[in-house]
Amino acid sequence: MSYRKYFDRFRTLQLWRARADQVRNRAGGYVWEVDDLARVRRFLILGAFATYYARRHVHVKGSTDALLRALEKDGARVVEEIHDVSVHGRAYKNEPALFALAAALSTPSLEVRQAAERIFPDVVRTGMHLFQAAHYLEGFRGWGRLARRAFTNWYLNQPVDRLAYQVIKYQGRRVEEGDKGSRWAHRDILRLAHPQTSDPVRNAVLYYAVKGELPANAPEDEALRLLRAYQAIKAAQTEGEVIDLIQRYRLTWEFVPGQWLGSADVWRALLPGLPLAALIRNLARLTALGALKPLSPEVQEVTQRLTNMDALRKARIHPLQVLVAAKIYSAGFGVLGSLQWEPLAPVMDALDKAFYLTFENAEPTGKRLLVGLDISGSMGWGRVAGAPLTPREAAAALASVWAAKEQTVHFMAFSETLHPFPIQRREPLARLVRRMAAMPFGRTDCALPMLYARQKRLKVDTFIILTDNETWFGKIHPFQALQQYRRKYNPEARLVVVGMISNGFTIADPTDPGMLDVVGFDTATPRLVNAFARGEV
Ligand code: CA
Repeated sequence: MSYRKYFDRFRTLQLWRARADQVRNRAGGYVWEVDDLARVRRFLILGAFATYYARRHVHVKGSTDALLRALEKDGARVVEEIHDVSVHGRAYKNEPALFALAAALSTPSLEVRQAAERIFPDVVRTGMHLFQAAHYLEGFRGWGRLARRAFTNWYLNQPVDRLAYQVIKYQGRRVEEGDKGSRWAHRDILRLAHPQTSDPVRNAVLYYAVKGELPANAPEDEALRLLRAYQAIKAAQTEGEVIDLIQRYRLTWEFVPGQWLGSADVWRALLPGLPLAALIRNLARLTALGALKPLSPEVQEVTQRLTNMDALRKARIHPLQVLVAAKIYSAGFGVLGSLQWEPLAPVMDALDKAFYLTFENAEPTGKRLLVGLDISGSMGWGRVAGAPLTPREAAAALASVWAAKEQTVHFMAFSETLHPFPIQRREPLARLVRRMAAMPFGRTDCALPMLYARQKRLKVDTFIILTDNETWFGKIHPFQALQQYRRKYNPEARLVVVGMISNGFTIADPTDPGMLDVVGFDTATPRLVNAFARGEV
C-alpha cells in the first residue's frame, strides 16, 4: 500500500491545493490570486477581454471590482499608476486608463478625485479620449462638480491650436461597438461642461465644435487657419488643390475627404506630416497605392522614421502596434482581401527594429535564462490586449526580446509536454509569429520548464515563464518544482511569471522574494524582468 504516492509535502497535484493561501484557477488548478493593485496593473496594460475560460463580462467585472477596492484602499497609488501607464504609453490601448480614471473621478474620497482631476489632461489627450472618458464616467457616479470641471478645463486650458486640431479630427465618434447609446460628440460634452471664456479665438473653436462651422465674425487668427483649411479641402475640386492645401497647412490624412485617399500623389504629399502611428497603420495602403515604391526616397524616409527611437517614444508607439503592423504588412493582403501589395523588405526590417526600440531600455542580465512559453490550448484563443494576436503569438514575440539581447538564453515551449522552440536572434517577427501559430496545442503544466532543467541538469539562474496561469495538469506545482530545482542545482534560482491574460491568477508564490509576477506587453516588462534577474529587485 502506497501513501507517499498520494501525499508528499514537496509534491502536490496541481488540481489539489498545496498551500492554504492558494485559490482555484478557472482550469481547476490551484495557484495564487494577485493582489488588487497587481490586478489593476494587468487591467491597465492588457484590458479585459474574453478568454478561453471566461466571457468578457467576467473579466471586466473582476477587474472593476479590484479597481474599486484598490481605489478605496490606496487611491493615490492607483491614480499614480494610471498616470504612469498612460503617459509613458506602456499599454497597447489607452481605454483601460480612461476607464480607471473615470472610476477615480467617481470615488467618495475628495483627495482621490482631486488627484484624478490633476492627471486628467495628461491621460485625456485627444478628442476621442475625451468621448471615452465621458462615456465611462456615466457608468460610474456620473457628472459630479469636480468631473465637470475636469472636462471644462480640457477645453479651456490646452493651447487653442491643439484644441482646434482635436475638434476637427474627432467631431463625434461611437465610443463602443454595437452600443447605440455610446455615440459622443463635443456638442454633448459642451452641453454638460459649459466652458466659459472671453477669448474670441477659443470661442470660435468651441462654436465650431458645436455647429461644424466657424461663426460669421470669427477673428483672423493663426489658430483658426486649420479650421479654414479644413473647410477649403472639403470644398476642393481637383487633386492639385488638395495637394496644395495639404502642403501649405501640413494637414494629416484624417482631414482629407475619402474620395482623394485613393491617390498615390495625395499620400506622397501627406507622408512628411503623417504622424508615426498613422504611418504604421497605413504602410500597407501606401505600398498598395504605389506611394511607397521599391528604391524610392520615400521608402528611405519611412524606414528612418520607423527606427528613430525618440520619435517612437514621443508618439507613444507600443510594441504590439508594431507587431500587428509587421504581421499584416508581411502577409501582402488585407484582412478583407480588398487590398494587395508587395511587401517591401526594408519596411519589414524597419518594423522589426522598431519593435525592440519601443520597449523601455533593458540592460542585458548576463545571467543564464530559461524562457518557457505556454502553448496550451487556452493560450491560442482570444486577443492580447485587444490586438489581433493570440496570447501565445504575442508571447513568442515578447520572448524574442531576450533572444535579441542576451548571451545565454534558451527557449522552449510547453503544454502538457515539452516542445523545442528555438528563437534565433533577429528572426523576422512575422515568421516567428507564424511559426508559433503552427505549434500544437495541449493541456497545461507550468511546472515543466523547471522539471526539464532538473532532468537535463541545466544551470539556470532565472526561469521566465509566459503563461495565462491556468495550469492544472501537472503532478507537481510550479513553485514546488522550483524549490526542488533550487535544492538540487541552484539555491538562488529565480522565477519570473509573465502574465499574458488579464485574469487574477499567478503561479508565482507571493511570499517568495525569488519569484516575480509581471504583466505581458507592458513596455516596462523587459526592464523589470532583467533588473529582477540581475538581483536588483
Ligand atoms: Ca492553458
